[in-house]
Amino acid sequence: MFLHRHATAALPRYTSYPPANRFAETDGREFTPWWLDGLKSTESLSLYLHVPFCAQLCWYCGCHTSVANDSARVDRFVGRLLREIALVAGRIGEPGDVCSIHFGGGTPTMMSPEAFAQVMRTLRDLFPVRADAEIAVEIDPRTLDAAHVAALAAGGVTRASLGVQDVDPEVQRAINRIQPTELVAQKIAALRSAGIGSINADLMYGLPGQTADHVRRSADTVSGLGVDRVAVFGYAHVPWFKKNQSAIDVTRLPGAQARFEQAEAASEYLVAAGYVDIGIDHFARPQDSLAVAARDGRLRRNFQGYTDDPADALIGFGPSSISAYPGGYAQNIPNVKQWSDAVDAGRLSARRGIAVTEDDRLRRAIVERVLCDGRVDLEAVAADFTRDPCAVGDAFERVAPLVADGLVRVDGWVIAATPAGRRYWRSLAACFDPELAPAKGRHSVAV
Ligand code: SF4
Repeated sequence: MFLHRHATAALPRYTSYPPANRFAETDGREFTPWWLDGLKSTESLSLYLHVPFCAQLCWYCGCHTSVANDSARVDRFVGRLLREIALVAGRIGEPGDVCSIHFGGGTPTMMSPEAFAQVMRTLRDLFPVRADAEIAVEIDPRTLDAAHVAALAAGGVTRASLGVQDVDPEVQRAINRIQPTELVAQKIAALRSAGIGSINADLMYGLPGQTADHVRRSADTVSGLGVDRVAVFGYAHVPWFKKNQSAIDVTRLPGAQARFEQAEAASEYLVAAGYVDIGIDHFARPQDSLAVAARDGRLRRNFQGYTDDPADALIGFGPSSISAYPGGYAQNIPNVKQWSDAVDAGRLSARRGIAVTEDDRLRRAIVERVLCDGRVDLEAVAADFTRDPCAVGDAFERVAPLVADGLVRVDGWVIAATPAGRRYWRSLAACFDPELAPAKGRHSVAV
């Protein structure tokens, strides 16, 4: 497989449709009440909790986070998080069943073990959390201790996601994240022996000084550690948006061809090691629920990437978190102080968002199928919305260059990526997005 011109196009990741950069600001009013009020008790829920603190900043980081210099600050945050949970639950009245809970950030284990236990208790008190709910936590192996592991297990955590990125010490120095492999191995063993059976490892390509060999070695290491899932993300250098990335030595960043080879190296290695290539950036053991969902055509896309979570709505807590309601998306204020002021005043903090139109709903479903399956039957998806597939006929003109390059095949209303187009699913998804402005360098590149 070789690099096409499409690989360097700047495209959204489409963790939502419309993507988050199209959300609009309100004039200071709360954004979500009518969507929360409209949630029916029959609608199942997913909950996302964002903890915006880390012990130190990795230079590549693109998340909403900052260094928490004292634990009292984190404790004050947790107090407000509990208030926000109560506020939202009170507003819904009779929430539907919770299928999944995801703690992200930042570093969720910046919360003390006691604080984590209290958050889980509050969630279970105020929401009907299903007995088989997936409870996932993102983990920085460098700061995970035995008390945290015990608290996660006691709280019912089913999946731990560890940031690894690259195992090479020199690459780690170039991104300010020194993390010996022995440490990662110890933490995985501790999580497993506490009963947290499902482990995900995050890797990256496109990092400063990184080569395809580094990526292969990292893939070899995490598969050797027996992780169930591996996510492989391309580094997006956006220092105008993320100041901490200014510390990255841009002269050492791999070019487009090298990035492409690194993405290919990760995929080839992991597939050879027995993982199933899922969507645009995930790999899972064949028996893992994500791989099963992909086989059954049940894979979904949300702000955490890929999921088999069937929930009707996702509610976000904490600064910057995004909620996805049947009627639209709403994002909490990212600034911790402003989010705190809103919660202290007993108000919801979402001030950005977008209502989804009928057309958005159809395009969202199409984009989701492309990013999950690499193909879409436009007629079948349109029928689900009692629409005519001609409603998205504008896409064919944008698909044509991908067809001409042998990356996509069109057969009637069925549009599918070819094997050569395996790394271009994002490019195909973007064809269904009529609002996509000509590349302005504000999104990450397609590969
Ligand atoms: S990559 Fe993870 S641990 Fe590093 S600063 Fe970002 S959120 Fe924190």
